[in-house]
Amino acid sequence: MQSDTLKKTKAAKFFAAVLTAVVLASAAVAIPVCAVLTAGEARPVIVVDAGHGGLDGGVVGTRTGVKESDLNLAVALLLGGMLEEEGFDVVFTRAGKGGLYLDGERGKKSADMRRRADIIARSGAVGVVSIHMNTFSDPSRRGAQVFFDASSSRGRALADAVQTELNRSFNLPDAGREFAALAADKFILQQTSAPSVIVECGFLSNPDDERNLSDEGYRARFALALAGVIARELTSGSPYGTVSAGTF
Ligand SMILES: [Zn+2]
Repeated sequence: MQSDTLKKTKAAKFFAAVLTAVVLASAAVAIPVCAVLTAGEARPVIVVDAGHGGLDGGVVGTRTGVKESDLNLAVALLLGGMLEEEGFDVVFTRAGKGGLYLDGERGKKSADMRRRADIIARSGAVGVVSIHMNTFSDPSRRGAQVFFDASSSRGRALADAVQTELNRSFNLPDAGREFAALAADKFILQQTSAPSVIVECGFLSNPDDERNLSDEGYRARFALALAGVIARELTSGSPYGTVSAGTF
């Protein structure tokens, strides 16, 4: 089962490429300029983690009942495909709807989290991005928010950059407010010294965020913004060779 989850998903990559083309064809979308690694250089690895899965659906959309685990997977596959286009080798913790536990296994949630940690530890990743959806008691709260581990200055730097991009491209126009990246004591952020962030893409307790994140085009634009800023942050000044400016 683990080998399945580690497999690169060519179909997802193709799907992401098609959606990227669709997104770029839209005049309403600003095209980010991204750092692209020179051909022939070793490709840095990045882990893209779709939160929850299987029996653990995460939070649920209040309007439609959509499961966080399914939306996380959709965003993660898009993001991973785009990061591969950017020159990364992408390791997905899961590339299907199931969780990382075995049928009949006891303590499924802890087994799932342990396997995610193992994947991160073995990946040699230069960064980890974990995709989640948020919820809050006040349904008016909306927008994307980024978390990092307090002990990691590089995690904080990546989180700040991602949050700044999401504030610029989504939070002010859509949510009417900005967020600051926040420190969080989360297991998934503590499995490597490489910068690791959790991106809470929006609040499924808010009808507008739920509608947006249930929309394929919105998810593609969101993933594109994420891929752009993450590629820029993880390749600039990296030991992985000459970095040149390019576009998707
Ligand atoms: Zn979650």
